[in-house]
Amino acid sequence: MARLISLVEDGSPALREVMAALAPYSGRAHIIGITGSPGVGKSTSTSAVVGALRSRGQRVGVLAVDPSSPFSGGALLGDRVRMQDHVLDPEVYIRSMASRGHLGGLSWTTPQALRVLDAAGCDVILVETVGVGQSEVEVAGLADTTIVLLAPGMGDGIQAAKAGILEIGDVFVVNKADRDGADATVRDIRHMISLGDRSEPGLWRPPVLKTVAAREEGIGEVMESIDKHYAWMESSGVLRERRVRRAGDEIESIALQALRSRMGDLRHGRGVDELAESVVDGTSDPYAAAEQVLDALT
Ligand code: GDP
Repeated sequence: MARLISLVEDGSPALREVMAALAPYSGRAHIIGITGSPGVGKSTSTSAVVGALRSRGQRVGVLAVDPSSPFSGGALLGDRVRMQDHVLDPEVYIRSMASRGHLGGLSWTTPQALRVLDAAGCDVILVETVGVGQSEVEVAGLADTTIVLLAPGMGDGIQAAKAGILEIGDVFVVNKADRDGADATVRDIRHMISLGDRSEPGLWRPPVLKTVAAREEGIGEVMESIDKHYAWMESSGVLRERRVRRAGDEIESIALQALRSRMGDLRHGRGVDELAESVVDGTSDPYAAAEQVLDALT
């Protein structure tokens, strides 16, 4: 499995064959994204959730992706300290991945790595983003269920709304509930959610829970919400919808990647230079030239 994920990171040409072989075994895992600002307790919470899944006898994959790091030919994050509880468990597969590389980021590599873990028989795969920025929202596009982690004081409603995370959360968790202000943050988030249009019958209403991940408090409620959300997605058809949308994104990024690479070949050949000369000379225009390039690419 480690070798297959390395193929993904390296963008190996062998991937095509690997993905074809894995296809019949995919689509079984429940993919759960865990997102939130650095320091909010993602790693601690992931570890606690892994513990809960293991006590149910489920096989678990954990993918920690760092979209802000460039590729360096393998996991450079090191195994995250708080996951040490699980590293010796053969039913838990933990992998760090630097994904912001020449192949175009989270959108390209992470779904392939998820396919590997899924085909390997993981019942649940937790995707945790490490690092900062856009990835907080991006992870939702990869998961069936997205857990948004907040902490008192760090994640008040306005801030959350600004970051665009209110729309992506299926389950909100205010971690570090042992600190002052947790109830206020819960109220704040509930209020902000109620302003959204999630109150229609049949729609999922995201719960807002409190945890103290460091002491594994509240993890039972998190598990319950995860299960309920999955059951709701299955019965409402949303699971299928999300997966179809995701596969569409995946197809698009692979196709774009192939186009980009062919475009690169074309530029290194003489074709584009000649067209560029004709644009400079005024005998062609950039649109007409681009059309010729597209014809050559397809
Ligand atoms: P991440 O950067 O989001 O992955 O956050 P970590 O899981 O690494 O946690 C950041 C810090 O918060 C660590 O020092 C944890 O021990 C601490 N922490 C995690 N959960 C809790 C909690 O429930 N209460 C308190 N007080 N500290 C916590």
